[in-house]
Order: sequence, then C-alpha cells, then structure tokens
Amino acid sequence: MFALAGLTAVLLGAVVGSFLNVVIHRLPRGESVVRPRSHCPRCLTPIHPAHLVPIASWIALRARCSHCSAPISARYPWVEALGALLATLSFQRFVPDAAHLDAASLVAATATFLFLANLVAASLIDVRHRILPDECTVWAVPAGIGAQALLEQLGASGHGVVGWRMAVLGAAAGFIGLGAIAAAGKWLSGREALGWGDVKLLAAIGAWCGPVPGLVVATFTGSVIGSVAGLLALAITRRRTYLPYGPSLAVGAAIWLLYGDRVTPWLLPSFAP
Ligand SMILES: [Zn+2]
Repeated sequence: MFALAGLTAVLLGAVVGSFLNVVIHRLPRGESVVRPRSHCPRCLTPIHPAHLVPIASWIALRARCSHCSAPISARYPWVEALGALLATLSFQRFVPDAAHLDAASLVAATATFLFLANLVAASLIDVRHRILPDECTVWAVPAGIGAQALLEQLGASGHGVVGWRMAVLGAAAGFIGLGAIAAAGKWLSGREALGWGDVKLLAAIGAWCGPVPGLVVATFTGSVIGSVAGLLALAITRRRTYLPYGPSLAVGAAIWLLYGDRVTPWLLPSFAP
C-alpha cells in the first residue's frame, strides 16, 4: 500500500509536470490553459493521446513533432521529470513511512507539491518572459491560507504546518517587507529595481511558509543561492547578465518547505524552530 502510494505520487508528479509545460507556454501569451487541446506550435496538429505520456513520448518521438518533424524543446521532459521529483520529495516529507499514510499527511504532501509545481511555472515564465503572472503569485496567497486552514481542521502537525493565522501574517510580512524595499529602491534609484511580481510572490511564499522562521529562511537561502548563481554566471559568461529574483525566491521556498527543519539549525541558528 505504501509503495503503491509512493508510485502514484511519482506518476501524478510527471503528469502535473506535463500540465506545467502547457501553463509555461500559454499563460504569458494570454491563452487558455485548458483549451484547445495540446498541439504542435508549428503545424498546429493536435498531439495524439499516445504521445502525451510524460518523458517517454519525447524520447520515443526523438524530440520531434510526429506530423511535421518540428523540434520539441528539451524543456518538456525536464519539467516533467522535475514534477515527478518534487512530488516524490513532498511525499517523502509528509509520508516518510507507512505509519504516516493518513488523510492529513496526504493532503499536506499534495498541497505542498502543488505549490512547488506553481513555483516551477512561475520561475520558468520569469526566466523566459521577465514577468511573474498574477495567476502564479496573487492566487497562491488565498490558496496557502486555505490549505493551512484545512490542515488545521484535519489535525495535521509538524514542519510545514503553520496554521491559517500564521499564513495570513506570513503573506502580510512578505508583501509589506519586500514592498517597502521595492518602494525605497524606486525612490532612491528613480527606476523600478524590484518588480511588484516579486513582492506578490513573496506574499505567496509567506502564506505557505509562515513569517518566522519560514519566510526568513526562504528569503535568506534564496537570496544567497541567487547571488552565487549570479556570480557564477558572471564568471562563466564574463558579462553582466540580468538574473530575475523570482526563481531564487522559489528555490528558497522549496528548501524551507522540504528541508527547513534540517537546514535552519546550522544556517540561521537563532531562527531554529
Ligand atoms: Zn508539427
């Protein structure tokens, strides 16, 4: 039963990853994410249901459309694999053994995974289009507060369960904290240094992680990883590349949600739970 639940998590993760590819492609273009059916962007031929199997069909089709041979981006199987990985890690986080196979833990694992999947879509859209759509940020605030309220009702406990009051506080802290920095940056430099999309994203992360230590650890680790990535990019390419802040914050949030109780004691000892 436990092994079956774990396998289901992996497969559902890959399927959600497949849907994320549709979101990443269509959301910034203002297209509906449900209709029409997935089609080849070049010849517009609807994709055959047999070719919708995550990862496997990309390999079987040798990365080309079966109708017009247009190349299919390697992003598709990678995002599907990332979906499967994040679902597995979320499942392990809340259902580490058969004794934890209960409704509260499964809801916690599912909710956490869906938020992480949302962060993947937000990050990849940010990298490609330099925007963070409201669908990935603003909507995640009530979703996070609702998820925490539901987990409270189900009697869930442990890391990642902060309760709806802390979710509200976390969202407010994220919005006001980064909002103040964004406003100050604009006042000082006269230009938009930090996008409002980042502010809304941090509000969403606050709703899912709670203010302290969740939001603090997520922002700190995300900013450190983002800075290191920026310096590496500078060293490799030898030119200043603009790196969006959204993916850094998303990575920080993922680290907190999946491993926060383990990394906090040695990362930020004063904030250890
Ligand atoms: Zn085609």
